[in-house]
Amino acid sequence: MLIDIDRLPKEGLRLSRDFEFLSLDLVEENAVFLEPAHAEVAVHLVGEEIFVQGEVTARLSFVCSRCLTPFEFPVASRFDLVYLPEELDALSEELSDEKIDQMYYSGRQIDLRAVVLEQLNLTFPAKPLCAPGCEGICAVCGEIIRDAKCSCLVKESDPRWNKLKFYVRDKS
Ligand SMILES: [Zn+2]
Ligand SMILES: [Zn+2]
Repeated sequence: MLIDIDRLPKEGLRLSRDFEFLSLDLVEENAVFLEPAHAEVAVHLVGEEIFVQGEVTARLSFVCSRCLTPFEFPVASRFDLVYLPEELDALSEELSDEKIDQMYYSGRQIDLRAVVLEQLNLTFPAKPLCAPGCEGICAVCGEIIRDAKCSCLVKESDPRWNKLKFYVRDKS
Protein backbone atom coordinates (compact mmCIF):
# COMPACT_ATOMS: atom_id res chain seq x y z
CA MET A 1 0.00 0.00 0.00
CA LEU A 2 1.79 3.09 -1.31
CA ILE A 3 1.29 6.52 0.18
CA ASP A 4 1.92 9.33 -2.22
CA ILE A 5 3.75 12.10 -0.39
CA ASP A 6 2.58 14.86 -2.71
CA ARG A 7 -1.06 13.91 -2.17
CA LEU A 8 -0.84 13.72 1.58
CA PRO A 9 -3.41 16.07 3.15
CA LYS A 10 -2.00 18.95 5.20
CA GLU A 11 -3.46 17.57 8.43
CA GLY A 12 -1.90 14.19 7.68
CA LEU A 13 -3.45 10.81 7.16
CA ARG A 14 -4.95 8.37 9.65
CA LEU A 15 -5.40 4.77 8.66
CA SER A 16 -6.84 1.74 10.36
CA ARG A 17 -6.56 -1.43 8.37
CA ASP A 18 -5.70 -5.09 8.22
CA PHE A 19 -2.67 -6.37 6.38
CA GLU A 20 -2.47 -9.88 5.00
CA PHE A 21 1.10 -11.12 5.12
CA LEU A 22 2.42 -14.53 4.26
CA SER A 23 4.51 -16.54 6.67
CA LEU A 24 7.18 -16.29 3.97
CA ASP A 25 7.33 -12.52 4.58
CA LEU A 26 8.37 -13.08 8.18
CA VAL A 27 11.86 -13.49 9.61
CA GLU A 28 10.47 -16.27 11.82
CA GLU A 29 9.97 -19.06 9.31
CA ASN A 30 7.77 -21.23 11.54
CA ALA A 31 5.31 -18.45 12.35
CA VAL A 32 1.70 -18.71 11.17
CA PHE A 33 -0.87 -15.92 11.32
CA LEU A 34 -3.90 -16.76 13.44
CA GLU A 35 -5.55 -13.57 12.23
CA PRO A 36 -4.43 -10.77 9.89
CA ALA A 37 -2.10 -8.13 11.28
CA HIS A 38 -3.84 -4.89 12.08
CA ALA A 39 -2.27 -1.45 12.04
CA GLU A 40 -3.40 1.95 13.22
CA VAL A 41 -1.15 4.48 11.56
CA ALA A 42 -0.84 8.24 11.38
CA VAL A 43 1.29 9.68 8.57
CA HIS A 44 2.22 13.31 8.23
CA LEU A 45 4.73 15.38 6.41
CA VAL A 46 6.82 18.10 8.06
CA GLY A 47 8.99 19.83 5.51
CA GLU A 48 10.48 16.87 3.68
CA GLU A 49 10.35 14.50 6.62
CA ILE A 50 7.62 11.90 6.87
CA PHE A 51 6.47 10.98 10.36
CA VAL A 52 4.90 7.56 10.67
CA GLN A 53 3.45 6.71 14.07
CA GLY A 54 1.19 3.93 15.09
CA GLU A 55 0.68 0.48 16.43
CA VAL A 56 0.69 -2.95 14.87
CA THR A 57 -1.20 -5.81 16.49
CA ALA A 58 -1.27 -9.42 15.42
CA ARG A 59 -1.84 -12.93 16.71
CA LEU A 60 0.61 -15.53 15.51
CA SER A 61 1.46 -19.09 16.20
CA PHE A 62 5.14 -19.71 16.83
CA VAL A 63 7.02 -22.93 17.36
CA CYS A 64 9.04 -23.13 20.56
CA SER A 65 12.72 -23.39 19.70
CA ARG A 66 13.35 -25.80 22.60
CA CYS A 67 10.35 -28.15 22.83
CA LEU A 68 8.99 -27.59 19.27
CA THR A 69 5.44 -27.06 20.59
CA PRO A 70 3.34 -24.42 18.79
CA PHE A 71 2.26 -21.57 21.02
CA GLU A 72 0.42 -18.30 20.58
CA PHE A 73 2.50 -15.17 20.20
CA PRO A 74 0.52 -11.93 20.48
CA VAL A 75 2.05 -8.73 19.10
CA ALA A 76 1.12 -5.21 20.17
CA SER A 77 3.91 -2.90 19.20
CA ARG A 78 3.98 0.87 18.96
CA PHE A 79 6.32 2.61 16.55
CA ASP A 80 7.38 6.16 15.92
CA LEU A 81 9.43 6.61 12.77
CA VAL A 82 10.86 9.41 10.69
CA TYR A 83 11.74 9.01 7.04
CA LEU A 84 13.96 11.41 5.11
CA PRO A 85 14.06 11.75 1.34
CA GLU A 86 16.63 9.39 -0.12
CA GLU A 87 18.49 12.29 -1.79
CA LEU A 88 19.84 13.17 1.67
CA ASP A 89 21.26 9.70 2.13
CA ALA A 90 24.50 10.37 0.25
CA LEU A 91 25.09 13.57 2.22
CA SER A 92 24.45 12.19 5.68
CA GLU A 93 26.71 9.21 5.09
CA GLU A 94 29.66 11.56 5.18
CA LEU A 95 28.27 13.72 7.94
CA SER A 96 27.77 11.30 10.79
CA ASP A 97 27.65 7.71 11.87
CA GLU A 98 25.05 8.48 14.49
CA LYS A 99 22.20 8.47 12.00
CA ILE A 100 22.94 4.90 11.07
CA ASP A 101 19.35 3.79 11.77
CA GLN A 102 17.85 6.70 9.89
CA MET A 103 15.29 5.63 7.31
CA TYR A 104 14.69 6.98 3.86
CA TYR A 105 11.94 7.12 1.30
CA SER A 106 12.34 7.38 -2.42
CA GLY A 107 10.18 8.25 -5.40
CA ARG A 108 7.97 10.54 -3.27
CA GLN A 109 6.28 7.46 -1.89
CA ILE A 110 6.26 5.38 1.21
CA ASP A 111 5.18 1.75 1.25
CA LEU A 112 3.08 1.42 4.37
CA ARG A 113 2.75 -2.33 3.97
CA ALA A 114 6.55 -2.68 4.08
CA VAL A 115 6.73 -0.37 7.10
CA VAL A 116 4.18 -2.44 9.03
CA LEU A 117 5.87 -5.70 8.06
CA GLU A 118 9.25 -4.45 9.21
CA GLN A 119 7.83 -3.35 12.56
CA LEU A 120 6.16 -6.70 12.97
CA ASN A 121 9.39 -8.57 12.24
CA LEU A 122 11.24 -6.43 14.78
CA THR A 123 9.03 -7.73 17.60
CA PHE A 124 10.02 -11.35 17.04
CA PRO A 125 12.45 -12.96 19.45
CA ALA A 126 15.56 -14.59 18.00
CA LYS A 127 14.68 -17.86 19.76
CA PRO A 128 10.96 -18.13 20.44
CA LEU A 129 10.10 -19.94 23.67
CA CYS A 130 6.69 -21.26 24.78
CA ALA A 131 7.63 -20.21 28.33
CA PRO A 132 10.74 -18.47 29.69
CA GLY A 133 11.87 -21.59 31.53
CA CYS A 134 10.94 -24.15 28.88
CA GLU A 135 13.11 -27.20 29.51
CA GLY A 136 12.72 -28.50 25.98
CA ILE A 137 12.81 -32.13 25.03
CA CYS A 138 14.38 -34.87 27.16
CA ALA A 139 17.56 -36.08 25.53
CA VAL A 140 16.94 -39.58 26.83
CA CYS A 141 13.28 -40.39 26.04
CA GLY A 142 12.47 -37.63 23.54
CA GLU A 143 9.36 -36.49 25.43
CA ILE A 144 8.58 -32.87 26.23
CA ILE A 145 9.76 -32.32 29.78
CA ARG A 146 7.05 -29.69 30.51
CA ASP A 147 4.26 -32.23 29.92
CA ALA A 148 5.73 -34.46 32.62
CA LYS A 149 5.60 -37.42 30.19
CA CYS A 150 9.29 -37.81 30.76
CA SER A 151 10.02 -39.93 33.78
CA CYS A 152 13.74 -40.10 33.34
CA LEU A 153 15.62 -39.14 36.44
CA VAL A 154 18.46 -37.43 34.61
CA LYS A 155 17.61 -34.03 36.03
CA GLU A 156 20.42 -31.54 36.46
CA SER A 157 22.96 -32.96 38.79
CA ASP A 158 23.08 -31.68 42.31
CA PRO A 159 25.65 -28.86 42.51
CA ARG A 160 26.98 -30.35 45.75
CA TRP A 161 28.20 -33.37 43.77
CA ASN A 162 30.12 -31.06 41.44
CA LYS A 163 32.01 -29.69 44.41
CA LEU A 164 32.82 -33.20 45.53
CA LYS A 165 34.08 -34.05 42.03
CA PHE A 166 36.47 -31.13 42.16
CA TYR A 167 37.57 -32.21 45.58
CA VAL A 168 38.30 -35.74 44.40
CA ARG A 169 40.13 -34.51 41.34
CA ASP A 170 42.33 -32.20 43.44
CA LYS A 171 43.36 -35.10 45.60
CA SER A 172 44.44 -37.31 42.76
ZN1 LIG B 1 8.88 -24.94 24.85
ZN1 LIG C 1 12.96 -38.44 29.54
